[in-house]
Amino acid sequence: MAARIDLDGKPIKPLTICMIGAGGFIGSHLCEKLMAETPHKVLGLDVYSDKIKHLLEPAGAHPWSDRIQFHRLNIKNDSRLEGLIKMSDLTINLAAICTPADYNTRPLDTIYSNFIDALPVVKYCSENNKRLIHFSTCEVYGKTIGSFLPKDSPLRKEPEYFVLKEDESPCIFGPIEKQRWSYACAKQLIERLIYAEGAENGLEFTIVRPFNWIGPRMDFIPGIDGPSEGVPRVLACFSNNLLRHEPLKLVDGGVSQRTFVYIKDAIEAVMLMIENPARANGHIFNVGNPNNEVTVRQLAEMMTDVYSKVSGEPSLEEPTVDVSSQEFYGAGYDDSDKRIPDMTIINKQLGWDPKTSLWDLLESTLTYQHRTYAEAMKQAIAKPAAN
Ligand code: NAD
Ligand code: UDP
Repeated sequence: MAARIDLDGKPIKPLTICMIGAGGFIGSHLCEKLMAETPHKVLGLDVYSDKIKHLLEPAGAHPWSDRIQFHRLNIKNDSRLEGLIKMSDLTINLAAICTPADYNTRPLDTIYSNFIDALPVVKYCSENNKRLIHFSTCEVYGKTIGSFLPKDSPLRKEPEYFVLKEDESPCIFGPIEKQRWSYACAKQLIERLIYAEGAENGLEFTIVRPFNWIGPRMDFIPGIDGPSEGVPRVLACFSNNLLRHEPLKLVDGGVSQRTFVYIKDAIEAVMLMIENPARANGHIFNVGNPNNEVTVRQLAEMMTDVYSKVSGEPSLEEPTVDVSSQEFYGAGYDDSDKRIPDMTIINKQLGWDPKTSLWDLLESTLTYQHRTYAEAMKQAIAKPAAN
């Protein structure tokens, strides 16, 4: 493997990385990239390993086998955590409850997972002088300032009323009874704590705010590789509907807007953070694709077209159906209206720009979903209910 060079032309020393949540969607892509393209070592921690099984098994079979270890543990209550952080040069914390269906229905678990359980990770990094890359969320911005303007106000079109900037934008959440914001609020407080550890105790940190990263292995397909009643994030919800040939459910009219970035583009940004500490430390980075903005309704329409193309199956005459958030998520749901990341800081510090268009990223992702799930779905649907 050729020696790796950082953005300032200096050789990069092989690192040992303690990756908490390595078995999740983002963790699995990061592990894949680190194994295939770098000499770095990963100590992966998670309660599940299904999404990285292909990197771990069969034991000893891969060129990277001696560079990846999996430790099945729950960071809530495992004394091995500090030792693993101490053995590493860098800790990346991805562990979280991060599906909106949980925020209003399991607010305690959500707050514990995103704040309380992250506390020892921050503490061990700070006490042992270890660098930390912590995964936060774009949701810490909450609602846009523009969403409070009258519907017909021309100011709504002005970027300063909706573009989200790491060092300027406020964090605007709804009332406490809208428990949707339990996640955003817990993430905001852990960001503030990490920032304060940096300011008062010299912790070397980087905070990542992902803006709707999507791609293969995201979440689960209900009834196939996850609970039938489970509600994953929108990519998996819509994939599930498409695989089942049922209409895609638009929550509250599907008027909310999102920008989607391809997981493989986003992982490039994380690699730059890992390998350029001098440029990444002390920063909070938006990581998203401002060019890929759609309403949820437009996303549903595009996914319907793309799925029809990759599966060869005609789409439904009525491809979408409206559903209220009360019915879909239950009481206490609320929504972010619009999420456009400002890219100035990540561009200046790391020279990163996303590349993949929404159509292209949906095409490769839905090709994966079709190849992975269509057969299993056919069998599940054909199975008599009694079985
Ligand atoms: P994910 O759910 O696929 O991955 C999280 C992983 O953490 C899971 O494998 C889970 O088993 C593990 N985990 C959770 N609690 C744990 C514990 N107590 N002990 C050990 N392991 C535990 O989610 P993801 O999409 O990969 O997200 C990773 C991080 O990025 C999260 O912090 C999330 O809040 C943040 N994020 C992601 C997105 C996105 O677009 N995917 C958007 C905003 C924020
Ligand atoms: N959504 C939807 N139908 C679904 C799942 C989600 O209309 O089947 C909407 C949801 O209300 C939100 C958007 O899609 O407006 C994105 O939801 P996601 O769960 O991906 O997470 P978020 O971006 O809100 O963090």
